Amino acid sequence: MNKFEQLGLNESLLKAILDLGFENPSEVQEKAIPLLLEKDTDMVALAQTGTGKTAAFGFPLIQKIDADNRNTQALVLSPTRELCLQITNELKNYSKYEKGINVVAVYGGASITEQAREIKRGAQIIVATPGRMQDMINRGLVNIKNIDYCVLDEADEMLNMGFYDDIVSILSDTPDEKSTWLFSATMPQEVARIAKQFMSEPLEITVGTKNSGSSTVSHEFYLVNARDRYEALKRLADANPDIFSVVFCRTKRDTQAIAEKLIEDGYSAAALHGDLSQAQRDGVMKSFRGRQIQMLVATDVAARGIDVDNVTHVVNYQLPDEIETYNHRSGRTGRAGKLGTSIVIVTKSELRKISSIERIIKQKFEEKTIPSGIEICEIQLLHLANKIKDTEVDHEIDNYLPAINNVLEDLSKEELIKKMVSVEFNRFIAYYKKNRDISTQSSDRRERGDSEPREFNNNGAVRYFVNIGSRDNFDWMSLKDYLKETLDLGRDDIFKVDVKEGFSFFNTDPQHTDKVMDVLNNVQLEGRRINVEISKNDGGGRRDHNNRGGRRDSGRREGNFAPRREGGFRSDRNSSRDGGSREGGFRSDRNSSAPRREGGFRSSAPRNENGGSDRAPRRSESFGDSSRPRRPRRD
Ligand code: ADP
Ligand code: MG
Repeated sequence: MNKFEQLGLNESLLKAILDLGFENPSEVQEKAIPLLLEKDTDMVALAQTGTGKTAAFGFPLIQKIDADNRNTQALVLSPTRELCLQITNELKNYSKYEKGINVVAVYGGASITEQAREIKRGAQIIVATPGRMQDMINRGLVNIKNIDYCVLDEADEMLNMGFYDDIVSILSDTPDEKSTWLFSATMPQEVARIAKQFMSEPLEITVGTKNSGSSTVSHEFYLVNARDRYEALKRLADANPDIFSVVFCRTKRDTQAIAEKLIEDGYSAAALHGDLSQAQRDGVMKSFRGRQIQMLVATDVAARGIDVDNVTHVVNYQLPDEIETYNHRSGRTGRAGKLGTSIVIVTKSELRKISSIERIIKQKFEEKTIPSGIEICEIQLLHLANKIKDTEVDHEIDNYLPAINNVLEDLSKEELIKKMVSVEFNRFIAYYKKNRDISTQSSDRRERGDSEPREFNNNGAVRYFVNIGSRDNFDWMSLKDYLKETLDLGRDDIFKVDVKEGFSFFNTDPQHTDKVMDVLNNVQLEGRRINVEISKNDGGGRRDHNNRGGRRDSGRREGNFAPRREGGFRSDRNSSRDGGSREGGFRSDRNSSAPRREGGFRSSAPRNENGGSDRAPRRSESFGDSSRPRRPRRD
């Protein structure tokens, strides 16, 4: 049997391949074709130029297209007109024994109406350059709303050529359920970003050695104040609900301490360092491989042998003493052709080390800002929504449904969705309005006060949180007007009005603070009392930060409540409050050292150093999986 046959290709393709004179599949073809034929999946394939990528996606594409259906089923995007024509030609060759398949090339510099006419005649496959494709979409000359397959060929080249926005816009015009196949010689950050944004759990294949100067690892740093290091780590974990990471610390003591803190705060973490016995280390590694641990906190020495695929993030909680060590650390991710991110949490005094590392790894770092509470909220909510969507129903539930329906039957679908998601959202908002952002930036932007990032750096202004928003029919202008009138202030006295759905932020100069608090807290809006508070995101005002706050946990902490790692908000909460009770936000119901990954919504609030957990009401009151058996604590 010929090797192409073994890949699962059908008769007409085998015949065409014979005509082409291909004797054996190339490596990328051998790897990609069976996977793509077998099921509908997203795929990222990295292989050097000239390795036969066109056939790697072309053969399965031709085989999967329904020739009897004349609707457009596939879109191939390619960077240039030449490539576009070349691919079209290849695809025509591949499909020459398959009756009824039409491939149309769409590219700039030729008549758009003629191309549109060809498509109208029935083109199952369109091969296009992004610019012309966008053009055609804008003019309504093409419909890609129902395609099944989208191929991004030579993705790195397309992005090099500045087609990022076009690609994003074209992809948003395609259905979510399609399969996306990304082929590229290299994996620069922009390509990884596209993959992250538009693909779901892509299969990843890499062929040959990676092109030098490129890598499957992207490097990011986050500048924070030293005291915010730990908080930053938690937020990064919260912003990446699927994180599977190795967190590097410099000393055994720090390693142990950070792991313990994370566990206390409800994360599935464990420490790996030389003070553990061999048996302990084996146990930790087994849990990590089994993914019962999401964050493995390790010393460089202990992590040396770690060879675990699918690590999504390496986190440099502290930079190593020897910057060469950085390479060893970041090499724990981006393995086996998978994409990975190496993150450095860095303080101002360490910034120059970043440049030194850049020289060593011959790659640039991207400076990022720690996600704000609101951003984490968005991420977690989407994660929650997806989790709900993907949850398989155990029919045991049927027994309980009558009672549940009894309670909920009067709610419309829309109301029900809103309420379900608000179960988490409300808590978060309650937390967020009392919390501050911890971002800082390496440039002197903050000092200069220009280009201010959202919700911090207000140059002495006071930022407020108010519980009215777009739900109350405000946009930023109308809210500004409303505040101006209610408070009898001038137009410029209210600024940075930022309206969210159920709440908003705005700023005033400090001299108006008393008035704002007095007046606004005593007015009603359509019968509802307005609540205004000074936001902790008050820019320069980090004085209120009190990480040593020793409020005790008011509630009992029940261990290992929900298996971690799915949905639910967790611990984006710190101990920055300097008093007052804290409700809402992310909280923790769990503190097992290795809760299992699958299962209910997880949530965890940070505990303060005295062991108190600023916890919100228990998750099981709302969304948790209290019906599940609790797992015994491991520690
Ligand atoms: P790339 O993936 O870099 O775009 P192409 O798909 O354009 O590479 O293929 C490069 C060349 O190799 C083309 O001329 C193509 O016809 C040829 N080719 C592809 N697959 C095979 C094969 N299995 N055997 C022989 N030649 C092949
Ligand atoms: Mg190619």
